[in-house]
Amino acid sequence: MSQKTAQTIPALAPADMDDYDPNSMSVNKARQFIKQYLSPVQQTEFLALRDSLGRVLATNILSPANVPNYDNSAMDGYAFNADDSCTDGPTQLNVITTIFAGKSSNIALKSGECGRIMTGGMMPTGADSVIMQERVTVADGCITFTEAPKRGMNVRYAGEDLQQGQTVLAAGHCMRVADLGLIASLGIAEVSVYRKLKVAFFSTGDELAGLDQPLQIGQVYDSNRYTLFGMLSRMGVEIIDLGAIADDPILLEKTLLAAASQADVVITSGGVSVGEADYMKLLLAKHGQVVFWKIAMKPGRPLAYGKIQGNDANAAHYFGLPGNPVAVMVTFYQFVREAMLILMGQANAAPLPSFKVECTEKIKKMTGRTEFQRGILFADNDGVWKVKPTGSQGSAILSSMSLANCFIVLDENVGNLEPGSLVNVQVIDGII
Ligand code: AMP
Ligand code: MG
Repeated sequence: MSQKTAQTIPALAPADMDDYDPNSMSVNKARQFIKQYLSPVQQTEFLALRDSLGRVLATNILSPANVPNYDNSAMDGYAFNADDSCTDGPTQLNVITTIFAGKSSNIALKSGECGRIMTGGMMPTGADSVIMQERVTVADGCITFTEAPKRGMNVRYAGEDLQQGQTVLAAGHCMRVADLGLIASLGIAEVSVYRKLKVAFFSTGDELAGLDQPLQIGQVYDSNRYTLFGMLSRMGVEIIDLGAIADDPILLEKTLLAAASQADVVITSGGVSVGEADYMKLLLAKHGQVVFWKIAMKPGRPLAYGKIQGNDANAAHYFGLPGNPVAVMVTFYQFVREAMLILMGQANAAPLPSFKVECTEKIKKMTGRTEFQRGILFADNDGVWKVKPTGSQGSAILSSMSLANCFIVLDENVGNLEPGSLVNVQVIDGII
């Protein structure tokens, strides 16, 4: 091992946290602890609008103009002034012009006149309302209608969607599909976003085999690198896959330093069990400040978080996830995801949203720890959404994750549940 020490990294100490106990950390305490050390990446870049999907805005987007830019018709019909509509009989108006969308109009209507207008057509001066074409009869260049629409009906006013100077999207907003269209509607072709987060990861364990190798007795295929790849891909980060590393101190040290030098975040799986005589722990103590926790949760009990000094000046955030394949996914979604959103600059980073639904089956659950059981949300015969567990809930049963479309989140104080109980669920389908 090299003689490098991690002098530049401040000690991780719990700030304002009562009952901090590394041997029994609640899920929320651990989240809170990690948050103290997170601040967004500094660098930003300009991107063409389409390339910004999934990226986080680094500056506010202000509307350079009103959207829509001019009063226009929401219907194919006739533009007129509501003052001209008769209340005691049919209204008759002369059609003096036709206004198509995309054509400027300098027509001014006089009393008793109207203009044929297409959807999106610019309202002529003097008109304040539009009547749908289906509501009028047309004869000899005149329209007649009996039921006048209310003043302002079927008109889209300038600035109705966005007003000039208004903050349309704030810095820290993650660009979604609708936002691409929204920003395009302002005529803005490029946006400033935070740079991509760089995330390096590797698996640890002598028992791990690559997919190109036949499996020897006692070996397992390295599946964690594949789920991690998938989860990280969905988050839109730059991925650095450093492979599966045997439990060999020299190789592990080399890989850890390479990871910390290249990346903002380093994720490992395996080898963080508390009490385990493990090289990872010695290495992490040598090159960083890392805390090891037994989280009061299932799956995902051992977890490590900290900072590691690589070969350059920057310290990388470190997440040591458990080795068991389901635990990797659960801890990623409960801890790493939110932390990475903060690092990516996302202002409203939060745990996965959860809501309550009825669980149709009974659930075995011990109090004193949070469980993330794998569940299937389904619509019952009446179209009411309910949830049921996937079956076997072992932390090595990765097929439960494939079956699941949600986590059933059972808080520390919840015990065994009967069918029909309300439970919290976090939807993961579409995120995974
Ligand atoms: P550990 O945390 O290293 O003690 O690993 C716990 C369990 O997870 C062991 O059964 C390991 O074989 C398994 N495991 C660790 N890493 C991986 C991996 N990358 N892919 C699949 N299983 C793994
Ligand atoms: Mg191991």
